[in-house]
Amino acid sequence: MAQAKLSFKWLGISGFVLSDEKTTLVFDPAMTRVGLLDFLPFTTVQSDKDEVDYWLERCGVTSIDAVFVNHAHTDHVIDAPYVARKFKAKLYGSSSVMNVGRGQGLNNDQLQEVSVGGEWKVGDFTIAAFSTPHLPHVLGITLMDGDITSPLTSPTSAWNYRAGETFSYYISHPQGNILFQAIGRVTDDDPLKDLKADTLLLTIANRVSTENLIKRFNTTGAKTVIPLHYDNFFKKMKREGEIDEFWGVKTGEFKESVSKKAAGVKVVWPGYCEGVGI
Ligand SMILES: [Zn+2]
Repeated sequence: MAQAKLSFKWLGISGFVLSDEKTTLVFDPAMTRVGLLDFLPFTTVQSDKDEVDYWLERCGVTSIDAVFVNHAHTDHVIDAPYVARKFKAKLYGSSSVMNVGRGQGLNNDQLQEVSVGGEWKVGDFTIAAFSTPHLPHVLGITLMDGDITSPLTSPTSAWNYRAGETFSYYISHPQGNILFQAIGRVTDDDPLKDLKADTLLLTIANRVSTENLIKRFNTTGAKTVIPLHYDNFFKKMKREGEIDEFWGVKTGEFKESVSKKAAGVKVVWPGYCEGVGI
């Protein structure tokens, strides 16, 4: 029997689909974009079901077994409860993410709180969580810091989506191992330092420097790197044409530094829903 193919499809920001044709995992679904004006007083946000349905259909997603979220800001969690409910999938994440799910009617058997040191099996995938604290947005300040301590109903103010804990996930599969690093920083003693991976899914927004992130290419020994979190998450996802880049994310500089300092590594920049074999 032919082996099932393992594939990656980007859903924008750090959202993606991983599937081996038997089991499908979704991470950080946030196709609903929360704009700057949505942060004004008395304004509320909620998952845009038509937008989510459009992108999942375009990505060819017909079933989902599990939804994992790295932290509870809107640009990572906003569509997670809707996706979990629609596909009867389990939602995995911090206690804050659990409260986002609870507030939108997910019951306890659909919620799996994640903690460091834990490992969860979904089909042939095994997912482990590592603590990688959120980096400050500006001047040492992380906006919407702290936890969501009670069920968060929807719609609600975007400011109520507090980050909670931030996890990076290591995904093992018989066909290859994948590290999803949720923050743009590598330190010599961080919890990801000993993980080997064939594919590195790497957050490049708000990175310390490209050189710093190249350290992770080296520690993982990844053959393929897929940068994440460089599109403009304040704007609606473009259905045609070039991806809108986030201000200051400097993909040009990233590409240039990588070609000089990590020439042997394949860096792939798929469009939304464009399949990449792993
Ligand atoms: Zn965040």
